[in-house]
Amino acid sequence: MVLYYHEFLKNKEIINHELEQPVIIYNPFYTASPAGRARVQALTTPVALGKICFLSGLSRLILVLGAVLYYYSEQIYLPEKDIINVLSTRNNPRKRYRDLKSYFFDLFGCRVYKIQIDAGFTCPNRDGSISLGGCIYCDGRYSRLRQAGPLPSVGEQIAAGRELYRRIRGAKKFIAYFQTASNTYGSFDHLKDLYDEALCQEDVVGMAVGTRPDCVSGDVIDLLQNYVNEGKHIWIEYGLQSAHDLTLRAINRGHDAASFIETVERTEGRGIKICAHIILGLPAESRDDMIKTARFLAELPIDGIKIHLLLALDGTEAGRLYKEGSLPMMTKEDYVSTVADILEVLPPRVVIQRLTADGYSDIFLAPEWGRNKLQVLNAIDAEMERRNTVQGAAFNNHIPDP
Ligand code: SF4
Repeated sequence: MVLYYHEFLKNKEIINHELEQPVIIYNPFYTASPAGRARVQALTTPVALGKICFLSGLSRLILVLGAVLYYYSEQIYLPEKDIINVLSTRNNPRKRYRDLKSYFFDLFGCRVYKIQIDAGFTCPNRDGSISLGGCIYCDGRYSRLRQAGPLPSVGEQIAAGRELYRRIRGAKKFIAYFQTASNTYGSFDHLKDLYDEALCQEDVVGMAVGTRPDCVSGDVIDLLQNYVNEGKHIWIEYGLQSAHDLTLRAINRGHDAASFIETVERTEGRGIKICAHIILGLPAESRDDMIKTARFLAELPIDGIKIHLLLALDGTEAGRLYKEGSLPMMTKEDYVSTVADILEVLPPRVVIQRLTADGYSDIFLAPEWGRNKLQVLNAIDAEMERRNTVQGAAFNNHIPDP
């Protein structure tokens, strides 16, 4: 499959940047001009490459280079604006942790792709119900799609994502991912309409709903359970960020750790998969605090986790604190090592859905190394390899303080 860099840029809103869905780009000699792109495209088709065989020595060299690039085109992961890092998974399909891609493959017998949806939700921590400021790291801009104009319907968003993944990956099954803002923040009927619309789309096998733990009614949990009973694969993603109430107050989260526990307990045992979000590098948190958050989650009936890196984004409170010098950012080495500690603490059953963070490049302030997700993921793999460890190696064990 071929996806040129300019196509990626055009479609990046619906391409899922998550760990389990690396973007595959064939970009031997990206050129912004349509004529240049057409020439590259024409040169790198197998037929054209075959014809070059009968030409000069230089052309033969081009042929060999083209063939190598063509072969590796299925293996190029492209973080936004970074076309130099290449990661091959062909020889190392299994991670040292339970990654989402493998989890879905085991469950469905094929790759399953999450299609991000912005259904127009807001957040009680931004609209004044809890606070107006929001969490200190939240830019409040929601998705690029929303910024671009009126939102397409849920069905239209899924259709666009589905067609893209079918075209670039031959994808067959999809999860509708209600990602933007608090996706249970609305009336029951409104939520049911949106979820029903998502789940009835062609080849959609399930749904993931991201929200706050203090924003889910019993009726909505019952509704999600009904979908499970109908055979759908359903995840709910609760933002915890930290298990420490002091930190939750410092980041203006608007709920405490007890609220998270209570909601997880209301959700468990219904067949709904529970994913927790945490952030590393929050203000005044030590490495030990972060590992304690992982241990806190390890004791709860969660099925998945997303680990984010705290980013300083312009226009956010975190960005302001960073600029005035009062919010230190984690170093890459510290982050990688802490993630490895956390993976060791988490039970092997927990699906690792994300290991770093995204931020809009136009407001990105720090840490600079956080821009390159691929390097971070590779460094985590390398650290796990160096330690010769796996997820769950220290589950229920005491990890000595660093
Ligand atoms: S809960 Fe999410 S959407 Fe709401 S303020 Fe915090 S980060 Fe922003």
